[in-house]
Amino acid sequence: MSGSRYDFLIVGAGLYGSVIAYEVAKSGKTCVVIDRRSHIGGNVYTEEVEGINVHRYGAHIFHTSDKEVWDYINQFAEFNNFINSPVALYRDELYNLPFNMNTFSRMWNIKTPKEAKDIIASQIADLDIKDPQNLEEQALSLVGRDVYEKLIKGYTEKQWGRKCSDLPAFIIKRLPLRFTYDNNYFNDRYQGIPCGGYTKIIEQMLADAEVILNTDYKDFIKEHDGLAGMTIFTGPIDEYFDHIYGPLEYRTVRFEEEVLECENYQGNAVVNYTDAGIPWTRIIEHKHFEFGNQEKTIISREYPEEWKQGKEPYYPVNDEKNNALYEKYRALAAKEDNVVFGGRLGEYKYYDMDKTVRKALDMCAKLALGR
Ligand code: UDP
Repeated sequence: MSGSRYDFLIVGAGLYGSVIAYEVAKSGKTCVVIDRRSHIGGNVYTEEVEGINVHRYGAHIFHTSDKEVWDYINQFAEFNNFINSPVALYRDELYNLPFNMNTFSRMWNIKTPKEAKDIIASQIADLDIKDPQNLEEQALSLVGRDVYEKLIKGYTEKQWGRKCSDLPAFIIKRLPLRFTYDNNYFNDRYQGIPCGGYTKIIEQMLADAEVILNTDYKDFIKEHDGLAGMTIFTGPIDEYFDHIYGPLEYRTVRFEEEVLECENYQGNAVVNYTDAGIPWTRIIEHKHFEFGNQEKTIISREYPEEWKQGKEPYYPVNDEKNNALYEKYRALAAKEDNVVFGGRLGEYKYYDMDKTVRKALDMCAKLALGR
């Protein structure tokens, strides 16, 4: 657009916005990236404390089966061979995740896949669930009543602040279910943690962009209307439209972080607390993402909460009510000239990092940013 100082204004210096910024610069165009926070990286931001890369906004484990995305992200960092294998604590019982033969063997003192399948089938025979309509029905039909009661119900209701019977089934299908002795939390072909943390990746992506932090879009645009020919908006889509149809719901997470004078607190990067009586959902011990052997350790307890103004939105609540509301915002978004919406908040979708990169690259292709 003639008269604009920059080709692109990118709102949000998270993963989506940063991939676009990198591609913009690579194709010889210019951009300014603004973010209301005091740092880049959005929720993938990591920060070094006591020699340990702390995942400030919760565990981020990169996993994908998309080779193009894997090769893309590997340009910016070397990835280690971390495999996520969380354990779940239910009262005094410890189980392997995701739901697999180690879990079932411990739960029922059995050994073979057939024994596990028979027990699951016997636990749900009377329910006759053919087409699961919600998370509860989906979980019960996959893993039976014991696993649902001990490892899913309490965790999920804490995480989402809603009953399992009111949540969409797809959420539980994020987790693999297998009848092999395999504790890998993901089924993806590629997985790892960037050596040195995520912030370094984002720094490289933004190296040639003009980045302005501590800056809110609405305030910025009042003074800089017409600054760029095209806007990429990665913030909450309902906020962009001043919530004219009412607010979309999000979940947020509060972290309680502690530096401990011990070398190894829990023996694993992620321990889930699936009992409804414990207020946090999980404890992350950050050093284990990079096999650290520092003298101290840093842990974060995660307390999920309903999002309200002033907090960081983490998870869209993709139930029917919110999805229908999102569709109304999406229709408005489609009518905007020279603004596109992307990322977890811009598209109101529970994207993992690899999907976020994929969507950003697809958007670059749409915007004719050559690679
Ligand atoms: N979940 C569960 N028990 C667990 C771990 C996960 O029931 O121990 C369910 C829960 O509903 C959660 C969903 O599986 O929201 C997806 O879990 P994931 O680990 O993918 O969530 P994220 O890491 O994105 O918070």
